[in-house]
Amino acid sequence: MVHLLFPVPSANFVLNFPEPCFEVRVSNKMPTFYIQQFGCRATQADGAALERELLDRGCTAAPNPTTASIVVLNTCTVTAAADAQARDAIRKIHAQNPAARLIVTGCYAQRAPEELASLPGVSWVVGNSHKPEIPQLVEMLSTNSPFETSTNPPPSNSNNFFPAAALHSDSTVPFHSFVGARHAVPSLGSFPHPIETTHLANILTGNIFDHPEFFSAPIQGGESHHTRPILKIQDGCNLRCSYCVIPFVRGKSRSLPPDAVICEIQKLTAGNSFPPANSRVGQPILAVHSSNVAQLEPSIPAVYNPAREIVLSGINLGTYGRDLSPRIEFIDLIRRILGETPLERLRISSIEPLDVTKDLIDLFASTDRIAQHFHMPLQSASNRILAAMHRWYRAEHYARRVELIHDRLPHAAIGADVIAGFPGETESDHAATVAFIERLPFTYLHVFSYSSRPSTKAATAADQIPAPTIKRRARELRSLAEQKSAAFRYSQIGRTERVLTLHGNDENDSTASACAHTTPALSSNYLRVQVPGILPSNLWQDVVITSEEGNYLVGEPTSTLCESSEFGACPGPVGASLR
Ligand code: SF4
Repeated sequence: MVHLLFPVPSANFVLNFPEPCFEVRVSNKMPTFYIQQFGCRATQADGAALERELLDRGCTAAPNPTTASIVVLNTCTVTAAADAQARDAIRKIHAQNPAARLIVTGCYAQRAPEELASLPGVSWVVGNSHKPEIPQLVEMLSTNSPFETSTNPPPSNSNNFFPAAALHSDSTVPFHSFVGARHAVPSLGSFPHPIETTHLANILTGNIFDHPEFFSAPIQGGESHHTRPILKIQDGCNLRCSYCVIPFVRGKSRSLPPDAVICEIQKLTAGNSFPPANSRVGQPILAVHSSNVAQLEPSIPAVYNPAREIVLSGINLGTYGRDLSPRIEFIDLIRRILGETPLERLRISSIEPLDVTKDLIDLFASTDRIAQHFHMPLQSASNRILAAMHRWYRAEHYARRVELIHDRLPHAAIGADVIAGFPGETESDHAATVAFIERLPFTYLHVFSYSSRPSTKAATAADQIPAPTIKRRARELRSLAEQKSAAFRYSQIGRTERVLTLHGNDENDSTASACAHTTPALSSNYLRVQVPGILPSNLWQDVVITSEEGNYLVGEPTSTLCESSEFGACPGPVGASLR
């Protein structure tokens, strides 16, 4: 099999890979791989891109880590618990499959590569800065190149794997690919010399702020059988909330150019009417690992089930387009999506409160093609704590946004992230947050216990809160969240909703086992509705909400299942077509 790495043009877009590179290699046997995902949607989008690239190169996806020859662990480091989860997984996979080469990447790998390199079984630690080069690394491992364990670099004219660092002749990255912290980090531009050791893995990472690549593919199918593809359109963050490690592991804010977003959505929404059994939703899409739109042109295999709902995600979605030239506002991107694609429902994953403008709310209210769902991180409702967090709004600003949404869209889902136990948080600060949440029409909350992250300003604060206090405050907030969610669900009884049927195991559906003879479905306002019968996923159904059971609603169908959200154009029942 011949592999070509094509040069990436650098003139047309702001975001680009480093300088062109060519490589032609021959390898006979490509490995089986398994990608163990952790963390947020942005990390999962990276994993989806990686999977696509590995498949494109002829690797085979293994059903589980115990049968793979290479396991990639795509880590998260947002909390200490996330770090611990990754370390546990590494130990477990190594114990179950000691022959597998483990490549650890993601945010934890970027933050603390040496920590991971010291774990047994790890072959390579690759930071987010060099994540797009993992497919090359996998190929190198598949050829059992002597380079991996040699003190001598391969000759530069070799047909063997040519280390990624050497491809970046213009790199300004303090690049280090080394084995063992005791060895000196090579100087800039020098060839990395991995050295054999029994203790530490190779490390491939650099300064994330020097890396403008946009590495992403829609999250679809896979283990969690996503019915609704998730498309990452923005990465990184230029802000510095004092508790947050994300900017240090994901770098500067950068956006997928609007033409590329439109192109991705057009591909995801194109397709045959009905999928073959077990097909994924949406087309397979090329990894979006540069801003070169030409790369997105279809070299696409069979089209399966067109996506009816797509979720746009990013680290700080409201800053979308501010890095592009010409600059584009997020709201204008949404208008373009509505105008230039046939997408039936667009959902926005999370957006900072001050980016929720009146114009944006009006746009949401103007069409049923945008899900009535706003997720706005709150973190605290104490202005003193918000200032210490370096958040740029105050509780009253946030409240105004919520009230505006509720006035225009009284049944919209309104969710928030809240942190319990930030350093210096007093009982009265906590009480202010509780009272604020009680007063406003939140429909759900994600509650996080504060977790100190190295490199952040908050980690050095003197007034850290004792763990039992953090736990108790988080418990109180979660209990309040349950009450708010239950009240919202109850308020929906008697209403008619158009829901999208989901795969039974979609989105970690905890209700699936309790609802063996029903199908989960999702409303525009982010409610889980169980519909009687075992139905195919990714179809529209009108239901009247009849009751609430546990943490879901029960809906009685008032229409036939339909392929199109334009029910007037619905050809009729579809069950018979779907075997
Ligand atoms: S805006 Fe979000 S990602 Fe950016 S620093 Fe703040 S919490 Fe972190």
